[in-house]
Amino acid sequence: MDIYCPVDERCSAVISALLEPLPPLKIQEYYERLLASRNCSTIQVKLDGEFGKGVYAQQDFAEGELIFRDQMLFGCQHPSNKIECMEDAKKCSIADADWDSCHSLLCLGEKSKAPSRAALDKFTQHANETNDIFLLAAKAIAYTILRYRKLKTSCERKRKLPDSSDCFDLSLLREAWRPISMGHKRRWWECMALPEDVDSSEEVTFRMQIKELAFQSLQLLKDAIYDKECEALFSLELYGQIIGMFELNNLDLVVASPVEDYFLYIDDLHSPEKEEVEKVSHQFLDALGEEYAVSCEGTAFFPIQSCMNHSCQPNARAFKREEDRDGEATILACKPIHKGEEITISYIDESLPFEERRAALPDYGFTCRCSKCQEES
Ligand SMILES: [Zn+2]
Ligand SMILES: [Zn+2]
Repeated sequence: MDIYCPVDERCSAVISALLEPLPPLKIQEYYERLLASRNCSTIQVKLDGEFGKGVYAQQDFAEGELIFRDQMLFGCQHPSNKIECMEDAKKCSIADADWDSCHSLLCLGEKSKAPSRAALDKFTQHANETNDIFLLAAKAIAYTILRYRKLKTSCERKRKLPDSSDCFDLSLLREAWRPISMGHKRRWWECMALPEDVDSSEEVTFRMQIKELAFQSLQLLKDAIYDKECEALFSLELYGQIIGMFELNNLDLVVASPVEDYFLYIDDLHSPEKEEVEKVSHQFLDALGEEYAVSCEGTAFFPIQSCMNHSCQPNARAFKREEDRDGEATILACKPIHKGEEITISYIDESLPFEERRAALPDYGFTCRCSKCQEES
């Protein structure tokens, strides 16, 4: 039996409008503006008929040279070592920019703007126990709701309309949704890789269970941060597409532990200040033991990096460096790249043999036709 989500039916027209692909020119414009806003002129995002978006060099790059740095749109730390926003903490530890863009609706602390903090707590627990990709999806939804409200307020001011009229404006919701609409989308339960311990005869049941899990998570999120005008965002269809986008485009990242930073900082101090501080800090160090340097791992969505196509002979690599602690990803050339060339990264371990590479890639919805694959097939 399939799962019935009433919002899917009620909001079907809005859902289709949000999922309708933008014309290529509009997409191109979006990336031009995004790159311009970041003062990045070393690359260009172009569209071609076959593979959709691609990133192209606007200049020559030497091997090892920095091509660009990408700022994450949403990110989250894995629950095993999460340090943000403790429920019992008096003060929320989230930075202002994050607070305005999505966290104010997802905060578990006292100042939270979530309609129900108890429900939000349940949602968060469920995500921590099942799949933290739901936390990322919640950020995407909260981000869109808050952006919609902001756009609406500024629109009403311009037109001198009374504030907070609750008539729904589809064009504003589309605008608020735009950054997310740019990500490649497929339904999560359809694009997710079948785990090795699941037999292919169980595939249909497995995918249905995944869909059910998403539906459970969505109901908890809906109880917590529901917004009537943005109801379509609480449809299973969009929830599945948002999670699918993260599944396909995420870059796992490792950020060094801030606690380690603190001890390194103390290490660099000079006497007598150093001895003075160490009188206090050595107690923490003893208490923390080996664990003080555990880094914060997380998953994030990077808008430009997610436009880069795959090759088993990539000319670039995307990763987080030790020094990139501010939510940025670094893209470095691993071969000389000429102006006009497409910049590619590998989504998989490209040193695997052909058959294994092919088995790892279909989850991304394509078959690799790079020269290495063509030679070895
Ligand atoms: Zn918080
Ligand atoms: Zn290939």
